[in-house]
Amino acid sequence: MHFDCDVVVVGGGPAGSTAASALARAGRRVVLLERDAFPRFHIGESLLASVNEVLDAIGAGDLIRQEGFPRKWGATFMTPDGGVERFADFAIATEVPAPQTWQVPRERFDELLLRHAVRCGADVRERHRVMEVDFDDDGVTVAYRPVRDASDDELPVPESRLRARMLVDASGRSALLGRRFELRVDEPSLANVAVFSHYAGVPRAEGRRAGDIRVIARTDGGWFWMIPISDELMSVGAVLPREAFQAQPNITSGELLERLIADTPVVATLMRHAERRWPVRVERDFSYGSRRYAGDRWITVGDAGSFLDPVFSSGVAIALESALEGARAVDRGLARGDLSARAFATFDRRQRGRFRAFRRFVVSFYSVAFRDLFFSDDPPPRMFRAIITVLAGYWRPSWITRWWLWLFFVTVRLQPWLHFAPSHLAANNARPHDAASPASAKSA
Ligand SMILES: Cc1cc2nc3c(=O)[nH]c(=O)nc-3n(C[C@H](O)[C@H](O)[C@H](O)COP(=O)(O)OP(=O)(O)OC[C@H]3O[C@@H](n4cnc5c(N)ncnc54)[C@H](O)[C@@H]3O)c2cc1C
Repeated sequence: MHFDCDVVVVGGGPAGSTAASALARAGRRVVLLERDAFPRFHIGESLLASVNEVLDAIGAGDLIRQEGFPRKWGATFMTPDGGVERFADFAIATEVPAPQTWQVPRERFDELLLRHAVRCGADVRERHRVMEVDFDDDGVTVAYRPVRDASDDELPVPESRLRARMLVDASGRSALLGRRFELRVDEPSLANVAVFSHYAGVPRAEGRRAGDIRVIARTDGGWFWMIPISDELMSVGAVLPREAFQAQPNITSGELLERLIADTPVVATLMRHAERRWPVRVERDFSYGSRRYAGDRWITVGDAGSFLDPVFSSGVAIALESALEGARAVDRGLARGDLSARAFATFDRRQRGRFRAFRRFVVSFYSVAFRDLFFSDDPPPRMFRAIITVLAGYWRPSWITRWWLWLFFVTVRLQPWLHFAPSHLAANNARPHDAASPASAKSA
């Protein structure tokens, strides 16, 4: 039977490039089909320390280190008035081998990884959209089409086909297979909306903390991110519960972001001399789980499988790790001649575990109890270190760290009754924000 390649990878974001690089380095014939031409904008700029291991494993560590991206040692969590700052330094967690990571403009980071996949031997075809996939007992047939410019003439674009043994779906939130097999599990408790842009003229912290992400809690359950992505630019965005957005209609997304900045005191101060460099963008309802991450002749990696609210910057780390583990499982399956769902059971289980480990933190972050404890004056050092270990990306730490995490989440549960920590945010915590609705927000 003729195969054009061993594996087709759909999507050239961080997950697709990682999977393609790993498989090509293992000697597999890989075709990666990417809808867009790179570089292209993408949100998701703050990395976790765990990505270092994946980048080294696919031979891209030096490439990223040489690029001069801002160095990130951790995160600074702040109350809306800036009165409390909780510095989460990845270096205090002894289970984190290389604590320093990066803040990345994604158009550059993603392009570096995609070009790296080419150098590793993958056949990368940009501006090719996968239209349909058809699985049978022996392989998968992938139908794809070149993407046309608006200026292209009206000639019909022919559809092409590729025959492969295996498909890796890395199509991000387009979720090619997730939609086809109805795998998506909604996360109603994380039905949030994000509004964001890039700004110049925003001061940053001094010294080692200059490259940190700043996460500023709001009193309505939402929060701001501030991520220094270059010497000049700061990525600034607000995430709010959907109801808070729907509170007032008829406002542009630009006006909305300005209002949110103005009524979050510490952000307003930091943004006093800021100049916006891009139109304001909006993303909605981005969190979802998955019923399965693998089946006969397919796996999903990165956002194509599941995605969690970005409060702990876990997206790219999960994308890279799942892609590397998925690629290794595919390589083993090809070697054994077994590409059935059974061959990917371990991958599927680990991906579920990874999602659950981060989900516990993300869902909890939106509770008053979690925030009160997180901002408490003197968190027990070992408990705090355990939290940082996971926030650095190490979601499966030693049993003792897991025990401290268990204790922390028990404390979160009991906080509403036993008040271990005073509340910094409770005053009007559950109150829907009185700003505008992006549902009706026109573009800025
Ligand atoms: C508001 C917001 C803030 C975020 N902040 C962070 C953060 O600070 N840190 C972090 O780590 N993560 C963050 N994320 C998450 C992060 O953006 C994603 O987790 C990450 O991009 C996932 O990578 P991926 O490769 O799986 O998907 P993507 O990067 O989305 O790549 C998917 C690729 O597939 C291509 N594609 C789609 N369909 C097709 C098709 N049919 N044919 C061919 N190609 C196709 C797309 O063009 C795209 O290039 C954030 C997300 C949001 C929404």
